Amino acid sequence: MRSSPGSSSAARAVGGRSAQVGTALLGLFLALSTAGCRSTQRPPAGDVAEPPPPYAPAQSDAVPGWLGEPLSWEKLARVESWLANEGRTATAIWRNEAELTLSSGRLTFARRELDADPAKAPAVATRLRAAKAGFDRLLLREDLNAGQRRRASEGAELAAKLLAGAPGARPPGAIATIARADWGALRAKPALMDRTSGPYSRITIHHSADNDPVVLDGSPGRTFAAARDIQRAHMNGKETRYGDIGYHFLIDPFGRVLEGRDLAYQGAHAMGDNNIKNVGICLIGNFDQDKPSEAALGALRRLVDDLRGRYSIPRERVYGHRDLRVTRCPGENLNRWIVSYRGGAPQAPPTALEVKPQAAASRSPRSVR
Ligand SMILES: [Zn+2]
Repeated sequence: MRSSPGSSSAARAVGGRSAQVGTALLGLFLALSTAGCRSTQRPPAGDVAEPPPPYAPAQSDAVPGWLGEPLSWEKLARVESWLANEGRTATAIWRNEAELTLSSGRLTFARRELDADPAKAPAVATRLRAAKAGFDRLLLREDLNAGQRRRASEGAELAAKLLAGAPGARPPGAIATIARADWGALRAKPALMDRTSGPYSRITIHHSADNDPVVLDGSPGRTFAAARDIQRAHMNGKETRYGDIGYHFLIDPFGRVLEGRDLAYQGAHAMGDNNIKNVGICLIGNFDQDKPSEAALGALRRLVDDLRGRYSIPRERVYGHRDLRVTRCPGENLNRWIVSYRGGAPQAPPTALEVKPQAAASRSPRSVR
């Protein structure tokens, strides 16, 4: 933690002057960004690792430290951290500038990667979608200034063009999924569900671990019967009585991705507040006993990458059910994949508060709320 009590009060003290300086610097930044990102200027190494200072209580138009720095992943990480900390009390022009910087940065990196190796298009698509979503969000804001609006609109257009032209790069939501009508889903009961309270910020993965599972033989019919079984259990179960299947997506061992609950509604898969802004994905099978198939894991990776791109969800926010409460779900063999996807150690064990529902969960693996 940086101990510089003077820095935020100094920023407040310059007050009106910093607005002028800020506008001037923004002009400089615009000039630099149109001139290209080839500047050799590098930030002092010390700045990179420094944690952000505590945010000031009053709205601040202090010039962000990252403004005008050459593009790098380190800079984008700093901008993200600024948005989550001191940027929360910054004026709209700087917050918008920060988001514009993030989306423009992602777009620039995606273009460079596509130029270097067009075969990477499917991987780059995730980044392009994140950039496009960022520009689109900005364009909905009324406090965007004229220059920012122009840059956001150009960025959105270019990202859309690259997405359409890049082989294998699907538009958002276009990952091949099987519609509810095709697998014979029961009609949902919206009165029994909550609308999502905002964009999704995490993903939780489950296994179905049915006591009496439908035997899958690769035919769509069997998979669809299994999905209907899970939905019925969620909607008619004594403990559940959900308005719909609890998960947003189901994946079968043959790599099929089935649409579950509409993403407009919060899922019912991780219990209570754990469901808030949390996409639920269930792989059909019991992965304490079996290993998930390559086809299922391939589909899972594509789906998770797609969702992360669509909602800007960091890799660290991809969980196994057991990371949120005491349960064996999603099974040891699937959990290993999740830990490796996240790129690190398992999450901290759940707190004692979350232990309570364990008994119910082990009796009925379908009780997921
Ligand atoms: Zn689960």
